Amino acid sequence: MPALPDLFRPYSAEASFALDAVRRAGALCAAIQAEVVGGSLEKDDRSPVTLADFASQAVVARMLAEHFPDDPLVAEEGSELLQQPEQRDALEAVVAYTAREFSNADPPAVCAWIDRGMGEPAPRFWTLDPIDGTAGFLRSEQYCVALALIEDGEVVVGALACPRLSPGLDPAGLGSGASLIAVRGQGVWSGPMAGDLDRRLTVSQQHDPAGARVLQSVERRHSDVDKMSALRIALGTKADPVRLDSQAKFAVLAGGEAELMFRIPTPARPDYREKIWDQAAGSIVVEEAGGRVTDLTGGRLDFASGRTVPHPRGVLVSNRHLHDAALAAVQELGFGPDGVG
Ligand code: AMP
Ligand code: MG
Repeated sequence: MPALPDLFRPYSAEASFALDAVRRAGALCAAIQAEVVGGSLEKDDRSPVTLADFASQAVVARMLAEHFPDDPLVAEEGSELLQQPEQRDALEAVVAYTAREFSNADPPAVCAWIDRGMGEPAPRFWTLDPIDGTAGFLRSEQYCVALALIEDGEVVVGALACPRLSPGLDPAGLGSGASLIAVRGQGVWSGPMAGDLDRRLTVSQQHDPAGARVLQSVERRHSDVDKMSALRIALGTKADPVRLDSQAKFAVLAGGEAELMFRIPTPARPDYREKIWDQAAGSIVVEEAGGRVTDLTGGRLDFASGRTVPHPRGVLVSNRHLHDAALAAVQELGFGPDGVG
């Protein structure tokens, strides 16, 4: 590929920082995963968080402070849990992991770096998921580090590091890792976790819903699996869905290895709203490969209102050619704007 600075004007500095940050954090997560089996804490909402989530956020936030000190960061984790007295050992471990990248890491500094992620959306801000797919990370399956820059409500740069994905973005099995960088209007490029990004991505040219390959979460509690199978039947899709954790799904779709991805809200969690860091980087990756990302009514996702994507709920991602057919199937099955039929 040509040098990043030539390719990604006017965002060359941002793109090169974002790629470097997710790769460094992703490689650290992979090292931690190889050394530690299991080991998660539970947040107030009972979702799992690992020491690697905290270390990854500390690294990216520290790098952002160095490269773009004025830019706010809206990220998933906060240090509050880690600062509780009974978590002293956990904090010590997070500091030791972070110190592999920044030798001046100590407890106050690491907590301050993590809490840099408590920023609010602004005309220009970054959003980070330090480990998207923590459940996949704990199962030694797919997860990624996802970082996006949002300007005036539009995602303009997105970077993903997927340490367990194959560099060719094939969703089958585990690989040596892939990393991707997308810049609005300039395309999306992918390659291994280190070294040159050697491939410009384009979505699949499949126009027939019967031949669609559909991606969905591994975690059944993250979406309504019954409605998603009703949708596949309505579309006449033949193949079983491919189940994959995290925004690695967006990478696979951008790479032309799948055509559709539904995120239909589960009735078990009527209060759940998608977090912006779960969708922002993935969405520009797919769009710059020629695909489409909308809510279930065909509207664009709102990344500028807060830490969550407001009403309406649910996400549809496609190679573009199958988007209208999928939206029509959603409507036909009578899902309201909440994704609940
Ligand atoms: P996935 O790997 O596609 O299942 O997505 C992982 C992300 O789903 C995590 O980062 C969580 O933020 C998010 N998540 C957690 N609970 C829910 C839920 N009830 N509905 C939708 N997404 C959720
Ligand atoms: Mg996530």
